[in-house]
Amino acid sequence: MVKDDDRCIRCGLCAVRCPTDAMTMERFTITERLVPKTSEVSR
Ligand code: SF4
Repeated sequence: MVKDDDRCIRCGLCAVRCPTDAMTMERFTITERLVPKTSEVSR
């Protein structure tokens, strides 16, 4: 599936219209976290 995220307004209609419930719309959050390289970790 190819979706243009610049045009999608996240209305959820594609999930509502899917005849087999293969598509769902659920709220989620992503938290970015910096992980130091092992060479930068002090011992
Ligand atoms: S139907 Fe709505 S949620 Fe689905 S792709 Fe189109 S704009 Fe986005």
